[in-house]
Amino acid sequence: AAKVYYDDDANLDLLKGKTIAIIGYGSQGHAQAQNLRDSGCEVIVGQRSGSPNHDLAVEHGFKPVSAGEAAEAGDLVNILLPDEVQGDVYRDSIKPQLRSGNLLMCSHGFNIHFGQVVPPEGVDAALVAPKGPGHLVRSEYEKGGGVPSLIALSEGASEESRKLALAYAKGIGGTRGGVIETTIAEETETDLFGEQAVLCGGVSELVKAGYETLVDAGYQPEMAYFECMHELKLIVDLLYQGGLNYMRYSVSNTAEYGDYSSGPRVITDETKAEMKKILSEIQSGEFAKNWLMENKVNAPMFKATRRAERNHPIEQVGKELRRMMKWIDSKEV
Ligand code: NDP
Ligand code: MG
Ligand code: MG
Repeated sequence: AAKVYYDDDANLDLLKGKTIAIIGYGSQGHAQAQNLRDSGCEVIVGQRSGSPNHDLAVEHGFKPVSAGEAAEAGDLVNILLPDEVQGDVYRDSIKPQLRSGNLLMCSHGFNIHFGQVVPPEGVDAALVAPKGPGHLVRSEYEKGGGVPSLIALSEGASEESRKLALAYAKGIGGTRGGVIETTIAEETETDLFGEQAVLCGGVSELVKAGYETLVDAGYQPEMAYFECMHELKLIVDLLYQGGLNYMRYSVSNTAEYGDYSSGPRVITDETKAEMKKILSEIQSGEFAKNWLMENKVNAPMFKATRRAERNHPIEQVGKELRRMMKWIDSKEV
């Protein structure tokens, strides 16, 4: 069974007299920086100027500096930039500032695991990864709670580094929800697999395929939207509270019977074989290489696909319908 740490297992005093550099004031950066400060830690924010995130950091009472300056000031240096830019910023601005005994940190192991961020001699690396988006990391902390998190250390890291990483996890509220120990490889590979096969890739394609099937058969797009996208939230809420058992307990027996009889016809052995292939491409580094190369040429495939996906009919129909549902806090991007 996985080891889970709670508040009593971590000591915030270990961070006394140390400065934590948070590089990037985006989704995770803004949340972790503020939580740590509220936990009594000394925090310096590294955020490039001329962007709304810079203004936000100032508004929140920080005095943002460049990534290099923050790295120089930090005893713990957490890189919270988009994964695809971390390697370049690390090599150019952060690495030259690291000193022996510093702890290099991240919230996703992608760059360390795939060799884009290589800590210098005498510097351990630690991952503290909240299992939730930044706004939740902040709002749960403000409510007195915390988002469950993962912790992992680079190979050969000291016991001291482990304790510091745990203290950091406590500072952002993670140990209130529970912190599971993992390895950087396990975190990286399972995170990538989950978002590709299930959470983002799997769900998006499932929703679109269901919508298209109904619309192609002549049903009204609005009906297809409610059935295949809107209602998904209600189902996911049940899963979140009580797993598949509770979802099946809550839906009608007819829905439960259809679940058993049709579900395996949608997710077939062929689908599972493809999932295995996706996982092996993650493990071999092929996915990482493709994503990093894509960025080296300014992400043409990524941008073209994003553009096309934004215009999918379900997005047009959904936007109009959500505007009428005042209670759902609809968002448009
Ligand atoms: P965001 O995209 O929200 O924030 C990115 C930050 O990096 C912004 O402050 C942005 O500043 C800055 N930035 C972007 N490009 C550059 C650049 N070229 N040079 C310098 N600064 C730049 O990132 P996230 O918070 O989503 O992700 C940070 C890390 O956390 C990633 O490793 C991610 O995998 C991990 N993570 C994210 C989760 C999430 O829910 N978002 C969950 C768990 C982990 P500017 O405004 O100037 O562009
Ligand atoms: Mg991820
Ligand atoms: Mg129904």
